[in-house]
Amino acid sequence: VHQGVVKKNAEYTMDSLDHAAFIISQKRFKMINIETTNRCPLQCPQCTRFKLQHEKHLSSYKETKERIQRGFDLSVNDAKKMLEFFDQGVMLCGSLSDPVYWPNFFEFLDLSKNYPNKIIQIHTAASQKNIDWYKKAFEKANNNVIWIFGIDGLEDTSSIYRVGQNTKLMFEAMNLGSQMNQNIHWQYIVFTHNVHQIDTARNYAKKHNIKLEFVKSDRTNNIIEVPREWRPKKNKEIVYDII
Ligand code: SF4
Repeated sequence: VHQGVVKKNAEYTMDSLDHAAFIISQKRFKMINIETTNRCPLQCPQCTRFKLQHEKHLSSYKETKERIQRGFDLSVNDAKKMLEFFDQGVMLCGSLSDPVYWPNFFEFLDLSKNYPNKIIQIHTAASQKNIDWYKKAFEKANNNVIWIFGIDGLEDTSSIYRVGQNTKLMFEAMNLGSQMNQNIHWQYIVFTHNVHQIDTARNYAKKHNIKLEFVKSDRTNNIIEVPREWRPKKNKEIVYDII
């Protein structure tokens, strides 16, 4: 009986491995989202990280703290393997970290020129040190890199949601990137506190040669609100308009 159970478990494990291999092979044609690190200095109220602001005895705090502590910085070698494996390329976005706080970020950007046929999307909302930091990053990035800056509104409103963001520096960085012929996208989640700035944003984006994407979202909570017409009907979050 014992041998039978062992055999069955072995078959089951093989089936699981085959299944896992199948799933991975199907994903190969897609662009995957990679969490590169567990670091981010911002406190966006709808981010998982925000639970770190909860009372320390609550399970939401403990679970989030543990999840972040279990996280680690992706090695350049592993990131390189992913870039080689996935046909379309990779998206550095994550759900509780910002890729610009990945310690291996510059080293990874150096690789971009070796894979000109792969797209590398970098989603970032957390401002880095200073404009020299961004200049260095743009110098390293090949033209297959797409920068997507999460700035929800203008200088006086974005940090209402992106708590802790140096929005002024983010605008400077977007402008510099555009001047340095980088692919710069501005992703703007519409909230009640920034909906009046849409037209100004459109004009600004046109003037500085930046692609602007307005996002409909379902991020209303007790701190912030999305106007009814800017909530998606089906999907949780969609890019509504690109100019
Ligand atoms: S920038 Fe991204 S990772 Fe950082 S707190 Fe905001 S949503 Fe979370």
